[in-house]
Amino acid sequence: MKVSDCQFIQNDYSFQELLPIIKTGKKVVLYGAGTAPSSYARIAIPAFRSFGIEPIAFVDDDLDRQGKEFLGVKVQAPSYIESLGSDAMIFLSSNYFESIARTIKTIGKTENIFSCTGILRSVHEDAYSEVMSFEEVQRRLHTHTSKLNRIQAMGRDENSTLILNAIDIQVTERCTMKCIDCSNLMQYYKKPKDAEQELLEDNVEKILSAVDKIYDVRILGGEPFLYKHLPKLLGMICESKKVSRVTVYTNATFVPKPEVLESLKNNMIEVEITDYDELSRNRLKMIATFKEHKIRYIDHKPQNWTDSARVVKSEKKGRELALMFERCCVNDVLSLLHGRLYHCPFSANAHNLQAIPVDKTDWIDLSETKSPVDLRLAISKFYFGKAFQSACKFCLGRDFEQPKVIPALQTKKPIDIPIVFTA
Ligand code: SF4
Ligand code: SF4
Repeated sequence: MKVSDCQFIQNDYSFQELLPIIKTGKKVVLYGAGTAPSSYARIAIPAFRSFGIEPIAFVDDDLDRQGKEFLGVKVQAPSYIESLGSDAMIFLSSNYFESIARTIKTIGKTENIFSCTGILRSVHEDAYSEVMSFEEVQRRLHTHTSKLNRIQAMGRDENSTLILNAIDIQVTERCTMKCIDCSNLMQYYKKPKDAEQELLEDNVEKILSAVDKIYDVRILGGEPFLYKHLPKLLGMICESKKVSRVTVYTNATFVPKPEVLESLKNNMIEVEITDYDELSRNRLKMIATFKEHKIRYIDHKPQNWTDSARVVKSEKKGRELALMFERCCVNDVLSLLHGRLYHCPFSANAHNLQAIPVDKTDWIDLSETKSPVDLRLAISKFYFGKAFQSACKFCLGRDFEQPKVIPALQTKKPIDIPIVFTA
């Protein structure tokens, strides 16, 4: 099993304890100057400033960013860290932990390296008021923390605790919209169907019996409110003590039925509404209904749509594929579809659409695995042990550096999926 390079990054630290040390004159550097609207750099800078700390520099691998100013702070090359000596404290304002850890190790600095978890947990919500909503910051914080936790757990004893960051449960292939660049590949389904209820509930039960914890169970489709068995599914997931929270994704094209609304009234559940302007034709009604029923929700515009929905045949091999997987924003999100547990929605749907060559190492067949112990071992190896998916050879990648596309451009008819192999 792959062993993490990131053990020296401190994730579980108290910023309150660190603060007096920083105030003795330490030089704070942020590694990662991502410019996307929801980047960690944009959250970290106001957080440090709210404590009266001015970072002396960003460091970033991207040559285009180096030498420029971002958010009033100069962006330097990684070699800049060498010049700082032992006084420097490096905070990672990025989720590319593995590649940053390798670079920092090459420079020879492995002390005083921190994730942004501690500071983002400590800061007052007013610090972000001009950047993004506090709920969104909490989600970014959660992703940042759990991605590093997952990486640091690699190579550990397979019998130890099995904690998953997130799992997508795709309840339907149907959607009320047909986005040309849907990264879940819904635009390619000609005869979309729903998850088979009994199979899905059995799969969920098996997974819950095998793991110790899942931070986020994400219910999605297509449009998950089209799935008529949603209330029962939500009920069984929320009953589990192993699940921290449930997120239901919707495009707000219609308000769910009363029995669905009833099932959403649970503090573990948060509905994430994406506001596609006039396409989300019932968004205001949905929000009013959720408020009336005291259903938790967040509401935001589409963010960071990248060119990640095409099926292509690339010449990428070994190390290149591993790097692509390492940078992928869904590399820690398992995906359940029609009885198989995949590593990502691209692999799940590209296989389901029979658009890429079958590779059985890309999924766990939940009907084959018998006991919870066997399944636990299989999930552990699958989740922590893979350097990349076979599907990555046919994917353009899903990191924030991918070229951006206009969100939610619609197609009237399903798009012919390119078949990149012949059986
Ligand atoms: S609304 Fe668009 S992006 Fe969302 S699932 Fe439907 S087709 Fe995909
Ligand atoms: S195929 Fe690979 S790169 Fe593409 S979304 Fe899945 S894990 Fe990420």
